[in-house]
Amino acid sequence: MLVLYIIMNHENTEVTHLAFMALAVKCADDNLKTGNGGPFGAVVVKNGEVIAATPNSVTATNDPTAHAEVNAIREACKKLGTPDLEGCVMYTSCEPCPMCASAIYWAKISAVYYANTKADAHSAGFSDAFIEQELSKPLNERDIIFKRIDAADAIKSFEKWVALSEAEKAGIKNGTL
Ligand SMILES: [Zn+2]
Repeated sequence: MLVLYIIMNHENTEVTHLAFMALAVKCADDNLKTGNGGPFGAVVVKNGEVIAATPNSVTATNDPTAHAEVNAIREACKKLGTPDLEGCVMYTSCEPCPMCASAIYWAKISAVYYANTKADAHSAGFSDAFIEQELSKPLNERDIIFKRIDAADAIKSFEKWVALSEAEKAGIKNGTL
């Protein structure tokens, strides 16, 4: 069943922010009962209406990318029928990790409000500091091997893309091709 939460308090911005954050925190708390994932929750709001309110579901889905923010972006994009969440606001119970922060940029979310900090997460045993450290290193110094191979074939995909007409490129990007 599709459930849309509408919080009617647009005149008091601070109260509205807190109400949406409370929903994100509830998603996080609920995971402590279900065991579906870590205690993280995220909400996507558009024009004062909750489009998605999702917990972390890494454990339940065996999906290491199923962080609360990524889940909220996926659900919001699915409901709105677009990969572009410009104009949407995210409320998340914790400062986003590098993966979720990247997803937020790809989705073009306009603003992010968070509650717990990365330091709070670290204290609770959920540190992402190692990822930021790795990403700041040159490829050949990282713990995971990143090595360029077979570029001669891969570049052909880009060459074919560049050769397409602007209409064909637009069709692929907006799903109308
Ligand atoms: Zn994350």
